[in-house]
Amino acid sequence: MLKTPTHYTSKSPKTVILFVVLFSVVYLTMILQILPKVHTFNQGVNFLFAFLTICFFILSVVKDPGFIHNDGLSFSELIQTFDPMNLCPDCETIRTIRSRHCSICKKCVERFDHHCPWINNCVGIRNHNYFLAYIIFQWILLLDTIILTAVVAFDPDTFLPQSGRPLIFESPTVFYIGCVLVVGISLVFILMLTLLVSV
Ligand SMILES: [Zn+2]
Ligand SMILES: [Zn+2]
Repeated sequence: MLKTPTHYTSKSPKTVILFVVLFSVVYLTMILQILPKVHTFNQGVNFLFAFLTICFFILSVVKDPGFIHNDGLSFSELIQTFDPMNLCPDCETIRTIRSRHCSICKKCVERFDHHCPWINNCVGIRNHNYFLAYIIFQWILLLDTIILTAVVAFDPDTFLPQSGRPLIFESPTVFYIGCVLVVGISLVFILMLTLLVSV
């Protein structure tokens, strides 16, 4: 039996901000502690996937997912012209076969997939491909990040002195805290993404 929601959710950038903070913490630790200890080729690959992940994340956030607009017609005009069954009373637009009303965005979305709080946007006809590309590149980046961190953490040469680096980055305690942080956050995200695509 359907229950009446106790509160209505509205759009909020909180989860996007949380994502940006966690991504920055992980990537800053990577830049300061892990990447300087890996081969230039591996650095380049990691930078490339980070760049692609950020690009497709931004596109997924800012792109109109396919909101349906009513072309300036009032709801009473729409009711006189169309079958009321084909109209959405919430956002006062014409429904299509594959559109669905998002109660968070408060708009109908063409080829609605789901509302994703991580991008604070719906996933629909116009941003579905960007979202898919973001998920794929993010997944690869997380896997690459975990592998690089593990390789560096277990490398016996990790603490050989490197010229020009502040001493704090040569401290084993600081280094291993960074490794746990990077791997911990990456594992949580890779698990969430795997669950998302397998549902
Ligand atoms: Zn609607
Ligand atoms: Zn939505």
